[in-house]
Amino acid sequence: MNFRKEFKCMKNLNIFIGNILKEYKENEDIDNIYIKELIKYHPIKDLHNIKWLRMKKQKRYYNTLSLQYGTDDIEDDDISWKECIRNIFGKSNINQNNIRDVKEALRNISNSGTKKFYKLKNNNMCCICNKLYDIEIDHKDIPYIKILDNFRIENNIDTLINIETYEDNNDMLQLKDKTLEYKWLKYHDDKANYQCLCKKCNIKKGSSKYKSIYKKE
Ligand SMILES: [Zn+2]
Repeated sequence: MNFRKEFKCMKNLNIFIGNILKEYKENEDIDNIYIKELIKYHPIKDLHNIKWLRMKKQKRYYNTLSLQYGTDDIEDDDISWKECIRNIFGKSNINQNNIRDVKEALRNISNSGTKKFYKLKNNNMCCICNKLYDIEIDHKDIPYIKILDNFRIENNIDTLINIETYEDNNDMLQLKDKTLEYKWLKYHDDKANYQCLCKKCNIKKGSSKYKSIYKKE
């Protein structure tokens, strides 16, 4: 099947595929010839020998249905069909997606250390307006982005592209490299200071003036 020739542009193919997938109910087997052909164009996943293809709930994104598959080795994993389409038209931004995933994994790790305990230990009152609800834990003194930048500088991590992630049992992204994960958690927890802010005061405070030196990535 020549998708490029048949559909001319990404928009046409996006609409066509989106309309097909909309018709499938949760967990219904997908045997549509276009979908089965399309996924073979995934830029990094080899999807030639899959066992099943279904729309399933994805906890990480608010329980919306996503296209997922299983193989003999992989119980279930999602496929970005839009990424397959971008790849067909030479516009895949898989590197950007991977960088986004790595950043999310790093964030998840940092949430599991002292930050979590700070929340449990403290009386959860906003330190600006004394409100007792909608409390968030904020990085004070040194912003999170700066801690991450410094960690990357000290460990010569110029790019996040090659770092591998996976989804754990709670659909949370994690790093495959457990040594790096531990190193990052320890580094983050050594540097981080926290304060309780209510949602409103946190928004008012806004993001810090610090701009990441890796901004271009
Ligand atoms: Zn407040």
